[in-house]
Amino acid sequence: MIIIMLGAPASGKGTQSAVVAQKLGIPHISTGDIFRWNIANNTPIGAEAKKYIDKGLLVPDELTINILRDRIEMEDCKDGFVLDGYPRTINQQESLDKMLEDCGKSIDMAINLVVTDEEVVRRISGRRMCKCGKAYHIVTYPSKKPDICDLCNGELYTRKDDTVEVANTRLDTYKKQSEPIIGVYREKGILVDIDGHKPQDKVSEDVLYEIHKYSSKQGVV
Ligand code: AMP
Repeated sequence: MIIIMLGAPASGKGTQSAVVAQKLGIPHISTGDIFRWNIANNTPIGAEAKKYIDKGLLVPDELTINILRDRIEMEDCKDGFVLDGYPRTINQQESLDKMLEDCGKSIDMAINLVVTDEEVVRRISGRRMCKCGKAYHIVTYPSKKPDICDLCNGELYTRKDDTVEVANTRLDTYKKQSEPIIGVYREKGILVDIDGHKPQDKVSEDVLYEIHKYSSKQGVV
């Protein structure tokens, strides 16, 4: 299955993509994680991406599209994947359709995690991350031991773009450049809206229920 996880920054895309990928046994592809890996490893791609990420802006399409193409052409993607944080522009959305069409594939479902603007800013300003990918919130979803990941004992950190100022720019960027994609997938009849305000486990239940419903209809899983 090919699943696209959509939603504003901090709507839960990373968390829910990880749950779905694990459940279906397919890769979880996050363009944000790919960029952060490149930044941490001082690659030329990282240096270019950092200029935009630190300001809350989108990395230019050309670079992002190439990275995505290289990733989904890998062997482990042949039975499907979950895309987290891609597409983020209409141009990326159109080029993804074309890439998939060229190899006889198409998107099965686009899942839209719906949260209010106030919730986005509240989540971003309290978010703590672990390098294993697990996300926490200092008030609503703290780790059991302060600053230590419950899953891997790694030390938690704050993403450089998780400040209130950058959060507002990211929200603005999302509304202008990424939100229109929701309409495209809705028109195609493959969009499912999920209330992203519920507790993480409940959101996962709702997401998995929708995937199950779709799969039963298609006989995919
Ligand atoms: P994320 O981890 O998905 O919140 O992404 C973090 C940042 O990486 C975003 O704010 C963008 O600057 C950049 N980024 C991630 N995915 C994309 C994309 N598909 N297009 C452009 N920029 C992206």
